[in-house]
Amino acid sequence: MSCPNCNKPADAKYRPFCSKRCADIDLGKWLGGEYTLADEETEAAEAAILDHPKKGDPLH
Ligand SMILES: [Zn+2]
Repeated sequence: MSCPNCNKPADAKYRPFCSKRCADIDLGKWLGGEYTLADEETEAAEAAILDHPKKGDPLH
């Protein structure tokens, strides 16, 4: 599987993305559309990822 954002090979840690940056970018797309990341990774961005339920989450 390749990164949906840039088509590079996915990283196991960030599948299906190639990097945290691409994961954050994609997350932002469907969270708010206009959400943009600063150059440095923010705590808010990390919190957003932690809040995001995984696919197939049995609690959801
Ligand atoms: Zn990527």
